[in-house]
Amino acid sequence: MIEKNKGMPLASLSLDLDNQWSYMKTHGNLGWDSYPSYLNTFIPLVLDLLDQLNLKITFFIVGQDAALKENEDALKLITERGHEVGNHSFYHEPWLHLSSKDRIKREILEAEDHIYRVTGQKPKGFRGPGFSWSPDLLEVLFENGYMYDTSILPTYLSPVARMYYFWNTNLTKEKKDQRKRLFGNFKDGLKPVKPYIWHISTEMRLLEIPVTTIPIIKSPFHLSYLLYLSRFSDSLMIFYLKLAIYLCKLFDITPTYLLHPLDLIGGNKLKELSFFPAMDLDFKRKTDVFNKVINQLTKHFHFVNMSTHAKLLLANGNLKNVK
Ligand SMILES: [Zn+2]
Repeated sequence: MIEKNKGMPLASLSLDLDNQWSYMKTHGNLGWDSYPSYLNTFIPLVLDLLDQLNLKITFFIVGQDAALKENEDALKLITERGHEVGNHSFYHEPWLHLSSKDRIKREILEAEDHIYRVTGQKPKGFRGPGFSWSPDLLEVLFENGYMYDTSILPTYLSPVARMYYFWNTNLTKEKKDQRKRLFGNFKDGLKPVKPYIWHISTEMRLLEIPVTTIPIIKSPFHLSYLLYLSRFSDSLMIFYLKLAIYLCKLFDITPTYLLHPLDLIGGNKLKELSFFPAMDLDFKRKTDVFNKVINQLTKHFHFVNMSTHAKLLLANGNLKNVK
């Protein structure tokens, strides 16, 4: 498969390893603090699926999960099977942007330590929980030698996604306020879809690889969104994906494509997360959509992990500067 793909534009694939407890915590469900986890079953399953497709990707790991003994064996498999690890914060709090620089630094370094201890690999990239980011965060990443940030989702649809997510929740006003930038800020929609260089200050520069949304329209097309569309019609879903691919190629954008565990875990296996979109679909249906989507994407792009993609973007130069 890889041979056939040679000569195609390079693109990257990543998976945010959000765990059961982190969805419950963000949604305001009780019991999250006993850290219910599906990593021991999910990780071996997704690694097998990726092997079948001959793909090596980047897993963004949450520090809290790496710190717990019971997840160690599963997390270790990620690097043993040739994949890359990235940092997805320690507590997975989508309100990370409200924290002081000191606290952000502690979160990032603590997560990094545990991820390194368990997987033997130091993360080169960071993705904010729930697409949360701030100028202080970018500074911390630069000061600690990160090669890239990938926390921004350039879309205007975040407020809609947020409304959907919190439709059935009993959160207090204070907690709702804390979460009011989950899935990003409306203004993030103004940011470029194409990777660029952040000019954080006169001496600080950092590569940003935004999670790719459809150029011009700026609507997301990562697997969670496509699964949602597939509930209405498979042809609608494929049409939407083909439009995304067409516009990426037209604007010379090499996408970074995003996956989540809930894109593959069958709803019947996880009653606690039934509030999440597409949790009425079973594992077979989800893997079917996953395979269809990857099949379309790999017709046009050669997928690698994120730091390989980042290195190529930096080597090619001509990236736009953003202040
Ligand atoms: Zn996440």
